[in-house]
Amino acid sequence: MKEETIPREMFRLFYLAAEQNCLPIMITDRNGCIEYVNPAQEKSSGYTASELIGTKPRVFQSDQSQLPMYPEIWQTLMAGELWEGELLNLRKDGEPYTESLAISPLLAETGQLSHFFVIQQDLSACRNTARRLESLSTFDPLTGLPNRAYLLASLAESIRDAAVLNHELTVVHLDLDRFKSLNDSLGYAVADQVLVGIADRLRGVVRRDDALARLTGDEFVLLLRNTVPDSHLEDTLKRIQATIAEPLMVVSGDEVSLTVSIGVAVYPRDGYDSDTLLRAANLAMVAAKKNGGDNVYYYVPEMQEGMASRFDLASHLRRVVERGELVLYYQPQVSLISGEIVGAEALIRWQHPEKGMIMPGQFIPFAEETGLILPISDWVVRAACQQMHDWRIAGLPPLKIAVNLSARHFYLATLPDTVASVLAETGIEGSSLELELTESAMMHDVVGAVRIMDRLKGLGVRLSLDDFGTGFSSLAYLSRFSIDLIKIDQSFISDVTINPVNASIVTATIAMAHKLGKNIIAEGVETEAQMAFLRRHDCDEMQGYLFSKPLPAEDFATLLRERKRLVFEEKEGVEVTRTLLLVDDDIPVLSALKRLFYREGYRVLTATSAREALELLALNRVQVIISDQRMPGMTGIELLFRVKDLYPDTVRIVLSGYAEIETVTDAINRGAAWKYFTKPWDEDKMRDEVCRAFRLAGASITLPS
Ligand code: C2E
Ligand code: MG
Ligand code: MG
Repeated sequence: MKEETIPREMFRLFYLAAEQNCLPIMITDRNGCIEYVNPAQEKSSGYTASELIGTKPRVFQSDQSQLPMYPEIWQTLMAGELWEGELLNLRKDGEPYTESLAISPLLAETGQLSHFFVIQQDLSACRNTARRLESLSTFDPLTGLPNRAYLLASLAESIRDAAVLNHELTVVHLDLDRFKSLNDSLGYAVADQVLVGIADRLRGVVRRDDALARLTGDEFVLLLRNTVPDSHLEDTLKRIQATIAEPLMVVSGDEVSLTVSIGVAVYPRDGYDSDTLLRAANLAMVAAKKNGGDNVYYYVPEMQEGMASRFDLASHLRRVVERGELVLYYQPQVSLISGEIVGAEALIRWQHPEKGMIMPGQFIPFAEETGLILPISDWVVRAACQQMHDWRIAGLPPLKIAVNLSARHFYLATLPDTVASVLAETGIEGSSLELELTESAMMHDVVGAVRIMDRLKGLGVRLSLDDFGTGFSSLAYLSRFSIDLIKIDQSFISDVTINPVNASIVTATIAMAHKLGKNIIAEGVETEAQMAFLRRHDCDEMQGYLFSKPLPAEDFATLLRERKRLVFEEKEGVEVTRTLLLVDDDIPVLSALKRLFYREGYRVLTATSAREALELLALNRVQVIISDQRMPGMTGIELLFRVKDLYPDTVRIVLSGYAEIETVTDAINRGAAWKYFTKPWDEDKMRDEVCRAFRLAGASITLPS
C-alpha cells in the first residue's frame, strides 16, 4: 500500500497501538539508530525516550557473553528476514533481565531496507515465578533448606556418581531430642524459630560438597559426598553436636539448649539405593534415641531386629488378654474445692512374664496400629467397672472411674452396646463411668463423633477430653461436643508458675470451660505451687504425683479407706497481710533488706533466684516485689515482665546499679516495673516508697502497660 493511500485515521490508530502496547516496542533506522520507543519500553528499560532516541541498542548490552550472537542477528536481518531469540540485557539501573525479542526489517516502497521494528518481552517476571514455584516444591519454606523431594533426587544422583567414581557416600539422619516438649512448652511459633536457628547453624557446619535437607519437623538429613579421609565424618558429626548444644536465645528471652540423636548409614556398605540407605540411617537414629539420645549410632544389620521384635511383640500382645497379663493402675483425681478424692483414672500396664512391667507408651501405639487395641480396650472398660463394683461391695465410698478410649475403639460401631452390657453386668450406673477421648480422635470425623457421643450420653456415661491443648481445636469448637470434663494436658501444668504463656492458656481454658458449663481437671500436678495456682484460678480438680502416682487397686483402696485428702493451708490472715517479696542472689543484701522491712511489720518473703521467686508467688499472695536486676539465669527485669503477665496486680520495683538505668527505665516505660532503687539505697526513702507501693497495691491500681 502506498503511503498516500493510507487514510490519516489509520496512522493515528497505528500510533496509538504502538504507544499503548503493553509490550516494549522500538524502531531503529537501517543503521540501528533508535528513532522511536514506546512507554512500555521506557518502563522496562528504565531509560526515557529522550535518552534512547539517537543512540544504538547497544546501551542495553550486558556483557561480552552476548557478543557472538550479534553477527548472526545482523546477517539474518540484512537478508530481510525476521530474527527471533532471547538476549540478556541490562536495565538503566544495571539490573540484568532476559528478554525475548522479535526484530523485523521494514522495507520502504522501493523495496529497500529502511527501518527495524523490535518488539520485546521481559521474561524475568515469568522466570521468577517459575523459580519460586520450583523452589517451593523443592525447598522447605520455614528454614529455606532443601526438602525431602530434593533430598531424594540429590541422593539418587549422588549414588550414581559414587558408583561411577568408586566413592563412599554417607547419609546422616539428625533428630532433635525432646523437641516435642519444647514445642509444647514454648509454642509452635517459638519452636519454629528454634528450627530456623538450628538450620542456620547446620548450614555453617557442612562443606560445599555436602547436602543438607529438612526431612520433616525436627528431622534433618545430611549427605556427605566423599568421606575420605574418615576423620572428616567424625569432625562433621562432632561439630554438629557442638553447634546444636550451644544455647539458643528465643524471642521470649528464654535460652534453649538442645541435643541431637544421630544415625549414620554408608553407601555401599549399608545399602545400594536411596530408600535402603535412608531407612538404615533412620534405624540407627532410632537406636541412638532409644539409648538416651544425644549420641551417634552407625547402622548395623542387627538394628533390623528391632523390626523382628515388633513381630514378637505383636504375637505376644495378641494373647495378652487371654493370658491375663494386663493390669489396671488407678490414679486419684482430687477436688480442688473439698480436697477429697472424687474419682480415679484407670491406667493400663502390661505385666510381661519375662520383661516385667511394660508401660502403656510402649505398647498402646503399637496395639493401635495393629488393631489389637480393640480386645484390649474392651477388657479395660470391663475390668474398671468390675473393680468399681468390687470396691462398692467392700464398702468403700462410691466414686467415678475414667477410662482412656483409643480413637479406633471410639469409632467402633459396637462400642455403645459393649458399654451398655458391661454396665448391666456389673450393676454400675453410667454416671460413674467416664470415657476419655482425645481431640484428634474427635476431630477425625466430627459428624460421626457427635453421633457416637450422643449414643454414649444416652447411657448416662460421662465424657472427658484428654490432653487438652495438644491438638488443634479451639475451645469454642468443642461446644459442639457433649463433653462434661476437660483435662488440661500436663505439658501446660509443668511450668504454669513460671511460663506466662502457659499460665494464660491455663487460666483462659479454665474460664472458657466454665462458660461452656464444663468442668476442668489439671493433669500432671507435681508441686504445691502448681496446685495453688490452679486453685486460685478456679480449676475444679487435679490429678498428679503431688497427691499420688497411679497405684495398684489394693493400694488405691487403702487411700480410699484412710480417706486421704488434700489439705489446703488456708492462712486466712495471710490473704490480707501485706506481703513483700525480696529477690536477690546476694545473700547479705537480702538479709539487710529483710531486716529493714521486717521491722516495718510486713510479712517478708525472700528468694535468691527468679525461679524461686515465681514459686513463692504461686504459693503466696504478694502485693509488692523488689527484685535485684543482676541475677544469673534470669535478670530482675525479665522476672518482673513475667510477673506482670502472671500477677498484674502486684507493684514491682527494681533494685539496680547505675550502669543499668537505661534498661530499667525502659522496663518502667513498658509497665514491668513501677520504680527503681539504686544500690546503695537510702533506707528512709526506700521505706517511704514501699509504703506507697502497698497503698497502690491495696487500692488495686493497675499500672499502665
Ligand atoms: P494419659 O491418659 O494422659 O494419662 C496420664 C499419664 O500421665 C499417665 O501415664 C500417668 O501415669 C502420668 N502422670 C500422672 N500424674 C503425673 C505427674 O504428676 N507427672 C508426670 N510426669 N506424669 C504423670 P501412663 O500411665 O504411662 O499412661 C500414658 C498414656 O497411655 C495415657 O496418657 C493414655 O493416653 C495411655 N493409656 C493408659 N492407659 C490406657 C488404656 O487403658 N487405654 C488406652 N487406649 N490408652 C491408655
Ligand atoms: Mg487419660
Ligand atoms: Mg492426659
